[in-house]
Amino acid sequence: MPLTSPPDVLGMRHREVETEAEYLARMETGNDWREEIETLADREAVDAGWFAAMGAVRTAELWFYDQREKEYHAVEFDEPLEVAACVGNVSLLDGERFAHTHAVLSRENGQSLAGHLDSARVFAGEVYLREFAEPLERAHDERTDLDLWLNDDPDTE
Ligand code: ZN
Repeated sequence: MPLTSPPDVLGMRHREVETEAEYLARMETGNDWREEIETLADREAVDAGWFAAMGAVRTAELWFYDQREKEYHAVEFDEPLEVAACVGNVSLLDGERFAHTHAVLSRENGQSLAGHLDSARVFAGEVYLREFAEPLERAHDERTDLDLWLNDDPDTE
């Protein structure tokens, strides 16, 4: 029976993806960590992809999403940090390629910091990017107030 309004709990949305190509890159010292990934995506016209990266940064700005307030709070670090792990994806946001980037950063004493990485000044960085054949587009999601992907009605695919 068709629903006239969205149910409280929607099913997970998913899609099969085909891998188009894989890329490796070395980030340039002094450049911005996320912009380097977006530059790689722009150069190779990657509209959808998944990446992993590692290296070190000189500064970092992490964002934490307050689920109640529905807004990001920035936390800035002005110190050398190891990028112990970084994972993310590339998709289209308002027609621009956007690298949604999360990272675990570590301090000299091994303590870790982690979160949504908005920006960071590269000391050195290595990236592996896997491109998908079909573009992914982000659109505003009312429940989370975030720009999420796979916004087509799952029942019509
Ligand atoms: Zn995030």
